[in-house]
Amino acid sequence: MIFLDYASATPVSEAAKEAMAPYESAQFFNPSAPYLAAKNVRDDYERAKSDLAHLIGAKGDDLVVTSGATEANNLAFSALDLVESPTVLVLETDHASILNTAKKYPTELIRVDRTGLIDLEDFQNKLTRNVAFVSIALANNELGTIQPLAEVAQIIKRERMARLVAGDARPLYLHSDASQALNLVPISVARLGVDLLTLSAAKVYGPKGVGALYHGHNVKLAPIATGGGQESGLRSGTENVAGLVGFAKAAAEAKKHQTYNRKHYEKLRQVLKSELEQSEIAPLFLGNPKHQLANFCPVSFPGLDAERLIYLLEDDEIYLSTGAACAASKGEPSHVLKAIGLNSREIAGSLRISLGAENTEDDMRIAGQKIITAIKTELARK
Ligand code: PMP
Repeated sequence: MIFLDYASATPVSEAAKEAMAPYESAQFFNPSAPYLAAKNVRDDYERAKSDLAHLIGAKGDDLVVTSGATEANNLAFSALDLVESPTVLVLETDHASILNTAKKYPTELIRVDRTGLIDLEDFQNKLTRNVAFVSIALANNELGTIQPLAEVAQIIKRERMARLVAGDARPLYLHSDASQALNLVPISVARLGVDLLTLSAAKVYGPKGVGALYHGHNVKLAPIATGGGQESGLRSGTENVAGLVGFAKAAAEAKKHQTYNRKHYEKLRQVLKSELEQSEIAPLFLGNPKHQLANFCPVSFPGLDAERLIYLLEDDEIYLSTGAACAASKGEPSHVLKAIGLNSREIAGSLRISLGAENTEDDMRIAGQKIITAIKTELARK
């Protein structure tokens, strides 16, 4: 099996599995229970939270642990609960959990260019006085495009100053979904200048169903689940101790190997690209590698039906996808590919290839050749 869809899911690393195991058996205690054994579990939970927060230059208290990135994104928008008639700006290529949540508010979409990079001029033009919330993913989940968030934060800072001078008290929060980025991009909330940041364990070789939202001290959030008051009352429910411990471990490992992994994936991607260049239909590589996660290799073979290619490749035990797994399962054309201006032939022929820990150079050669063979089969059928 050659798995080329790590943007949709990563296997739990051995180190994370090992770290999680005690909390699924001997240390199963509820961290809120009164006896010492449970208090120790509480300490381990808080330590894991601090460790995770530390990786992004934050403190444990700045994080709310959630059931994943979707919930963290939803919680981020609760910052708007206390703002009167807020307007929201979101990047048009962002994940459904952002775009669909933004629909609750008057929203404007920020445009991207042909490589998926934010159009900063369009952003500046749309950043009017009513805007209270801006959400821009650090890295896109279909193209891997990494956004210049620090530049965005500078523009936001200027707008905040202008509001201050004008005596306008309307808040302006910057949120970023860093689910895909955490694995390969060094993240410091201070350097990025964000007020809110979403993290996901499922994309960094941690367990599924675990995420976190970083929130700066200036941001007031509303509870996403009320009950026993866990997570500072913002997300009640018995803590997922094993999940958080696994997340912290997996994220720490990812950070430790980041520099090596970036180079490694760049090399693998180059090998794959060279193979694909030999195709009868010239590949159209999407995104700009200079601003792209090193493990992403989205590519279009215009005129082909990518879904048919995927089924053919599945017979060879090569797994890849057309777009974000959730959008692809609905059979809708990707809003991301539309946003970067691909025509319908280019969209229909698009594959989302994303590399990960188990891939080797040989895999790239084999997968490349199998993709070319599948393309030949498709061309012969026409
Ligand atoms: N944001 C991004 C950028 C993602 O890639 C994903 C997962 N595809 C999500 C949010 C949603 O994550 P989850 O399913 O863990 O809630």
